[in-house]
Amino acid sequence: MARYVIAHYHEVALKGKNRPFFVDRLVANTRRALAEAGLRRASAVYNSILVELDDQAPWEVVQAGLQRVFGLANFARVERCPLELEAIKAAVQRVVEASTFHTFRISARRGDKRFAMTSDELNRELGAFVQSFTRAPVSLKQPDLTVYVEVLAREALVYGEKIAGPGGLPVGSGGRVAALLSGGIDSPVAAYRMLRRGCTVSFIHFHGYPFLDASSKQKAQELVELLDGYQGSSRLYLVPFGEVQRQVVLDAPEPYRTVIYRRLMVRLAGHIARTEGALALVTGDSLGQVASQTLENLAAVDAAAELPLLRPLIGMDKLEIIRQAEQIGTYPISIVADQDCCQLFMPRHPTTHATAAEMLQAEQHLDFDQLARFALDEVEVIDHGRGGRRKERRSLVPVGAGASAITPGGDG
Ligand code: ATP
Ligand code: MG
Repeated sequence: MARYVIAHYHEVALKGKNRPFFVDRLVANTRRALAEAGLRRASAVYNSILVELDDQAPWEVVQAGLQRVFGLANFARVERCPLELEAIKAAVQRVVEASTFHTFRISARRGDKRFAMTSDELNRELGAFVQSFTRAPVSLKQPDLTVYVEVLAREALVYGEKIAGPGGLPVGSGGRVAALLSGGIDSPVAAYRMLRRGCTVSFIHFHGYPFLDASSKQKAQELVELLDGYQGSSRLYLVPFGEVQRQVVLDAPEPYRTVIYRRLMVRLAGHIARTEGALALVTGDSLGQVASQTLENLAAVDAAAELPLLRPLIGMDKLEIIRQAEQIGTYPISIVADQDCCQLFMPRHPTTHATAAEMLQAEQHLDFDQLARFALDEVEVIDHGRGGRRKERRSLVPVGAGASAITPGGDG
């Protein structure tokens, strides 16, 4: 015995000549999400994805898995049956008996017009049939239960409750980005939104260890582990930033520190992103949320970045971001108190109106090659995935004459 699930995607989202590519990705991602949930096979059929599961497959696990496959609009447990009225009735009865409801309706659709009855005739016939053994009233406008009957070329599919999928586009269909992940509330939500738009995401966290404890590193790992549920294989770079900050304190004017930290972060992240083949950086900035997120300061950070800086939360309120973090499940991890590197050497009166020209001036005494060595000589690279977690230390300092990881202007 097998069990079947039918998963639908948004037609509009996956239209155009890339459609086969999107659908292939979606099928592959569906397989990966259910690999440990009793999957037998999954394939693209009838403009949807048909999943075959072991009889024993635990439904809660299947459901949780599918809810992490971006690109799925909805899914349902489905009965497959031959193209005969009696067989369709039996399938309808199984669906009805597995549901609790007061009112219902039948929604039949002929994907193949060769079937002897029209959709209307099917609706009537099957509706009367359900009433014959349930006595339940029909409600066309607001039924508790809709029984869907899809008549196809070789079989019919019958299903009841549709469960909402996560929407968006299949991960892996939109190119790679590198997300700057703090231990805060915002950046994990920003990364989530890029995953949901089909990007593959690598993660970069800057930490103040050994000047601070390792709590922010721990949080970054937990956040990546959670977000990895959406992509199935994720790399996290843990970059030591404390010594870099100490040098900034020694060599640059105090009010500019915070913006300099950010500019150094995007330069260093840009270097890592390029080794990863990422096409953009992602941050959790939201306009005006804190002093460092004025339009002027954001522009001053942009000026230091060579790759596009994407800020998916830029127009969101804190409350909206928190609500989303709660839905994703990152919120409880994010609110655990940690020692974030941004708390290290904070200026008393940070600038809120930095210009790019001022910043270059403020950074003129920094030794960029030395700063890059401090940050990149011993980066911890952690690969999360189905095989568990692998960790290694790696130097990401470029070798060879004239090779520099970061430069004073745009990203080296
Ligand atoms: P978050 O809640 O994401 O920490 P925030 O509201 O605290 O954001 P900032 O501290 O100004 O705002 O950080 C803005 C963005 O810069 C973050 O969303 C993140 O993308 C990036 N960032 C800040 N600190 C770090 C860090 N230690 N490592 C990596 N990225 C960071
Ligand atoms: Mg923060």
